[in-house]
Amino acid sequence: MLNLILMGPPGAGKGTQAGKLIAEFKLPQISTGDILREAKRAGTPLGKQAAGFMDSGKLVPDELVIGLVEERLEQPDTKDGFILDGFPRTVAQAKALDEMLKKHGRAITRVVLIDVADRQKLFDRVTGRWSCPNDGSVYHVKNSPPKIAGKCDKDGATLIQRADDTPEKLTKRLSEYEAAKAAVVHYREKGLVTELDGEQSPDTVYGLLKKAVGK
Ligand code: AMP
Repeated sequence: MLNLILMGPPGAGKGTQAGKLIAEFKLPQISTGDILREAKRAGTPLGKQAAGFMDSGKLVPDELVIGLVEERLEQPDTKDGFILDGFPRTVAQAKALDEMLKKHGRAITRVVLIDVADRQKLFDRVTGRWSCPNDGSVYHVKNSPPKIAGKCDKDGATLIQRADDTPEKLTKRLSEYEAAKAAVVHYREKGLVTELDGEQSPDTVYGLLKKAVGK
């Protein structure tokens, strides 16, 4: 059972690493950012409530995010574990998470923080990022461009940029990230936190990540 929290600033490579873990270990990834973006796109009540916060790079209120994670963790596909991406981001969220897991006799088994000290690198990674609206494939104008500019390699869809992947919003998101690190303090006290340097190649980071989670 691997109940993993993956944390890192925007552009640290969390999505890439989660993708590799999912492919190898068939664990579901629970990304609160992805769930909220989908709710916003679909215009659900949750999406409507979250939209304003998300578009300005602010955190969505705890009770909305906690509710959606609780619902997601009740799905049977999480029985052998899960990868939480982007949650918890506040101490209240971390406490609520521990409580909901405890109800099912479970607990977080590892927290991995992937960080990139060079903030300029994060700006370059995030502001050059484009993704496919259909399958979520992520490209980068310089580092991993699609074969045809602006089109998804897999289905030819026109690539889009996230509304919050702009320099101004990224500055806000980075400061939110610094604050979010406080959410993992009590996991640190329990010796559950591993920090990895996200400036290394994706394969190197993945090797270290697997070691950290005992795989
Ligand atoms: P992300 O894709 O993780 O960067 O999340 C995108 C946006 O969704 C964030 O800037 C927040 O507005 C919102 N969001 C995602 N996860 C959380 C969370 N755990 N708590 C509050 N807001 C969140």
